[in-house]
Amino acid sequence: MDFANKIRLIKDFPKPGVNFRDITTLLQDGQAFKAAVDAMTQACADMEIDLIACPEARGFVLGAPLAYNMGKGLVLFRKPGKLPGKTIKHSYQLEYGMDSLEMHEGAILPGQKVLLVDDVLATGGTVAAGVELIKQSGGQVAGVAFLMELLGLGGREKLRDHRVISLIKCD
Ligand code: AMP
Repeated sequence: MDFANKIRLIKDFPKPGVNFRDITTLLQDGQAFKAAVDAMTQACADMEIDLIACPEARGFVLGAPLAYNMGKGLVLFRKPGKLPGKTIKHSYQLEYGMDSLEMHEGAILPGQKVLLVDDVLATGGTVAAGVELIKQSGGQVAGVAFLMELLGLGGREKLRDHRVISLIKCD
């Protein structure tokens, strides 16, 4: 199943010059969605992990079925003000703006091995913030996995201390 070609390219979204890779067209296709999640599960199968963590919102869409497939717990990294309990926070630069991620304090325990999952690696700012949250918690980053990596935006460089898995690479 070639799921890569189910991801739609939308030029100049959300602002001129950005080539937005839209995964909603992949998600709408049941076989493509299943093939993508299964391929990510297989690519991460040899990782020794305790938990999966993923950033809002498209990270949830891939992180949750991956955690289910691997039988691991899921930790949600959310935009500010969404989580009801006490949180820790990290701010970061996006390809198009600034943002912050929060997680519940204590959701990751010291020494736990965490696999960080998101849909697209662009500048790497989002997952770098996720890496900081894992480190602040005392957890270890076991790896970082993406459905798609946008080459040339420097994302992989920000993650050079970690194992990075990406299923699809494009310009
Ligand atoms: P970054 O922090 O720059 O690596 O951006 C990654 C996050 O922003 C991911 O959660 C993506 O969902 C989203 N994102 C950034 N740039 C793009 C893009 N060109 N196409 C699709 N999603 C993007």
